[in-house]
Amino acid sequence: MKDKHYNSQIRWVAYLMMVAGILVMFGWIIDFKPLLSVVPGLPTMKFNTALCFFLSGATLVTVSDQGLYLDSLNRFFSTLVFLIGGLTLIEHALDRQFGIDEIFVKDQISIVTKYSEPGRMSTATSFCFVLFSSAFILFKFKRGKTNFFGQLLLHLVTIISMVSFISYLYGVPVLSKLSIFTSMAIHTSLMFVLLSIAASLVHYRLGATARFTGNGIGNELIRRMFPTTLTMVLILGLLQLQAIEKGWISAEFGIALFVISYLLAHLFLLFSIVDKVNVLDRERKKVQEQFKTVVESTPNALLLMNQDGFITMVNREAEELFGYNRDELVGIEIEQLMPEEFRQDHPVLRNDFYKDPKARPMGKGRVLFALRKNKERVPVEIGLSPIENDGKTMVLASIIDISERIMAEEIIKRHSKELEAKNKELEQFAYIASHDLQEPLNTVIGFTSILEEHFQDDEYATKRLMHISRSSNRMLAFIRALLDYSRLGRNAKLEDVDCNQLLESLVADLNNLISTTETKVTIDKLPVLKAYSGELRMLFQNLITNAIKFRKPEDTAEIEISAERNGRMWQFSVQDNGIGIPEEHQEHIFEIFQRLHRRDEIEGTGIGLAHCKKIVDLHNGKVWVTSEVGVGSTFYFTIDDLGNTNLGI
Ligand code: ADP
Repeated sequence: MKDKHYNSQIRWVAYLMMVAGILVMFGWIIDFKPLLSVVPGLPTMKFNTALCFFLSGATLVTVSDQGLYLDSLNRFFSTLVFLIGGLTLIEHALDRQFGIDEIFVKDQISIVTKYSEPGRMSTATSFCFVLFSSAFILFKFKRGKTNFFGQLLLHLVTIISMVSFISYLYGVPVLSKLSIFTSMAIHTSLMFVLLSIAASLVHYRLGATARFTGNGIGNELIRRMFPTTLTMVLILGLLQLQAIEKGWISAEFGIALFVISYLLAHLFLLFSIVDKVNVLDRERKKVQEQFKTVVESTPNALLLMNQDGFITMVNREAEELFGYNRDELVGIEIEQLMPEEFRQDHPVLRNDFYKDPKARPMGKGRVLFALRKNKERVPVEIGLSPIENDGKTMVLASIIDISERIMAEEIIKRHSKELEAKNKELEQFAYIASHDLQEPLNTVIGFTSILEEHFQDDEYATKRLMHISRSSNRMLAFIRALLDYSRLGRNAKLEDVDCNQLLESLVADLNNLISTTETKVTIDKLPVLKAYSGELRMLFQNLITNAIKFRKPEDTAEIEISAERNGRMWQFSVQDNGIGIPEEHQEHIFEIFQRLHRRDEIEGTGIGLAHCKKIVDLHNGKVWVTSEVGVGSTFYFTIDDLGNTNLGI
């Protein structure tokens, strides 16, 4: 109801009314004439008038949308004003005394005419109060029509009080035909002007007030023009009147002078308006141009449609996409740009959009098609936005041709399917090969040891057989590692893994290695997460045994394991104080069979970190290392906490 923009203005006027009311009432009590009649010899503001102004101010202060308490206070104040004003009006009409005029003070100073009684507020004043309070009584119904009617009553108060004020200004005699207006005290009329304008701001979008408060260029003009015109006319009129009264000029000349000066002043005002309008118009054109440039240069096809689905505006991209030119597109129904099967349902969908118009993608979850002039179907993505235009809602459709994207997606899909199949094939091959190779190799190893026993006295043969045996065993180790690698993730199950428990049991299992090498292992608090428990254990085992294996010969190994949350992932780190890894090797040590040491220096197959990488991949994570030669290495890996893994088997 009340807009926050005008709240403070309304309040200020309300307080002014209340203070002025109190002052005048006080003036009556102490008999202080300047407060009662501003110009000696002119009508006084009666005690009841001052009281009604106080109550009207209170009515304005209590205008509120919320709160029963305020609402009933508002009702009370406006009803009191209505009663006092109404009874006085009836007194005037019936020429009767209800004894309400001098309840509080005796009036011995007001000019008494045939239209007035001592202490009685004037006809115009009481009428204005009746109008004012009726407006607020009407506002209580909270309907469009009653609000509007109330607003008109307030406007009537403004007009009556303005006429009254102007009559004073121009010295229209109290007893003339206009006396119904001039019976109102001069400050009463001014206060009514203020009060009625402030009250009309309660419903600032109604009636004449709306003309002043709106956002349009016309409203801007009236806001600027009206005060100037009003002051100008009043001052010009007054000056002319003075000149005539003083006998400087004749009445005829005065009127002619008024007309000329009014015309000149008005012309001057019009000039300034013309300039202002021109500036605004230029700005509007500039904005229009900018808008056009934006619309034309956007990479999406844009179509503006009215409620009936007719196209009213298109951009260059739309011409390109649909293969029609602009003139062909504007004015046709949007359904014509759709393939046959979408056309029938579309008007219903279109109406649905208007029921709840807000920006949204069209046809979510399915591929939409646009129909080109040459009947070609183009897959598209469409975004719809409502646009207010002249009080009507239009729809702006922003259309993107996604045929290239769809094609690219299809290629990627096909490639990843092929890749997946190839990977499976490869894993299957590695599995079968390593599985089947073990058997003949075991036979070779078995026979070699039989031969070793048989030729134990033959030094030449023993040495050669030992070579065969060592190589065969190494080959067996490789094959087993390969088999393990290809088995990784098969039959693995996601479960809640408490990493603290997992490491505790792992460290216990590695106790022999750890204590003989005097390694110090420190483990921070680790999380519980959804993971492949066996694989995760192997991952930690590889990293810990590597840290021990690649320790500095002169130092005991120190390993620190910790974890921290990084978004929805957990990031683990295994830090050691070992020999470190040169920067150029830090990436490819995770590839299968990649080693940085000769076999006779440090034992190994070069498959441990490849295992680690595959395990981390299974968990949708990443693994990497930071290291400095001679200082130590830190292996990091991330694990998806939600068990959202890549495992497709
Ligand atoms: P392996 O341990 O069998 O050699 P890995 O795949 O586990 O195979 O490791 C590959 C290579 O990475 C190792 O040969 C070693 O050179 C290097 N490496 C792995 N872990 C460490 C570490 N903690 N400190 C230094 N070098 C390491």
